[in-house]
Amino acid sequence: SEVLDVERIREDFPVLEREFDGTPLVYLDNAATTQTPTQVIDAIRDYYLEYNANVHRGLHQLSQEASIAYEQAHDRVAEFIGAAGREEIVFTKNTTESENLVAYAWGLRELGPGDTVVLTEMEHHASLVTWQQIGERTGADVEYIRIDEDGHLDMDHAREVIDDDTAMLSALHVSNTLGTINPVADLVDLAHDHDALAFIDGAQAVPNRPVDVEAIDADFYAFSGHKMAGPTGIGVLYGKQHLLDSMEPFLYGGDMIEKVTFEGSRWNELPWKFEAGTPPIAQGIALAEACDYLEDIGMDRVARHENELAQYTLERFAEFDDIEVFGPPAGEERGGLVSFNLESVHAHDLSSIFNDYAVAIRAGDHCTQPLHDKLGVAATARASFYVYNTREEIDVLVEAIDDARDLFA
Ligand code: PMP
Repeated sequence: SEVLDVERIREDFPVLEREFDGTPLVYLDNAATTQTPTQVIDAIRDYYLEYNANVHRGLHQLSQEASIAYEQAHDRVAEFIGAAGREEIVFTKNTTESENLVAYAWGLRELGPGDTVVLTEMEHHASLVTWQQIGERTGADVEYIRIDEDGHLDMDHAREVIDDDTAMLSALHVSNTLGTINPVADLVDLAHDHDALAFIDGAQAVPNRPVDVEAIDADFYAFSGHKMAGPTGIGVLYGKQHLLDSMEPFLYGGDMIEKVTFEGSRWNELPWKFEAGTPPIAQGIALAEACDYLEDIGMDRVARHENELAQYTLERFAEFDDIEVFGPPAGEERGGLVSFNLESVHAHDLSSIFNDYAVAIRAGDHCTQPLHDKLGVAATARASFYVYNTREEIDVLVEAIDDARDLFA
């Protein structure tokens, strides 16, 4: 890499040393889940070895240590994405739960017939299915901003569908299928021009590029720990404080209350009002460590590295006229992923050949079935990159494609 010391970085990820029948693992499924560096694993290990206890409740020393670390993890994540403070950072299970939290807590109460929720045609099922269901229950309509041939949002169409009926815009920041980087600040502006709220799905953005939620001016912003060198079981919902303050809780139970009587309850302060029950303590602390890890590398450099690998992949694929690639054209900056198909070989057959090469990629619809319908394909293969991937690994991928062509042709 011209940008990162990948050799050095790979030492932090022991799993990358795995071999299958003597063939070294080539892990190119990072848009699904990234690998975990020892620094993050150590944070989890330290927690369980040294101060595992429930938070907010116990007055004993262990609980105090766990509570402080867990609360500070919110501060760390806030800083990582440019939020004002912990009040605006709710720890959830994943991006999907963050989306559902807003859909249930805000959508069910605020939406009704005559309102529209505007999505994009490249939306992940996490937002698409969720808002469809909330639409059905409230009578609100769901509309979609079209995409063009190159996998860009049609911003003229965006200006048409976002209108005074729009109550919520939910758009993804970076497409997990196309790699497109959407002009989210412009979309948020459009929504605000019509007094609508804007929810941005940053599941593929926060891991790969500097994100400043205040610069974007998003009302809500969501992402997952397991796609950014962090653990599974933790996601983040950022929300502007005044909005989170005015919203009712999503889940009820312990920890999210301030006072309970047989007659009723008052809610805890932010963000705990939205964190009912025992939260993901170890995962939250480890996510903060992942933020440290990525910031040490530098998010600008992560973004450049990912784009560089994506461009190299497009360059290699262009050598073959039977590889169809999706998303923005070569040369245009994109997230670190390339979806493609090999003519006459189904994506699932491709991925089984890849397995012989110990190449891990994703084949399927990547939770964007309507987008695949629009592209006119049932499935695509997707190679996606992270800080530890190299050009040589992409060469192995291309070799495997060559082999698949011979086998299936
Ligand atoms: N949105 C996008 C853009 C994604 O790529 C993903 C993960 N594939 C999700 C949402 C859902 O993330 P999670 O499964 O962690 O909830």
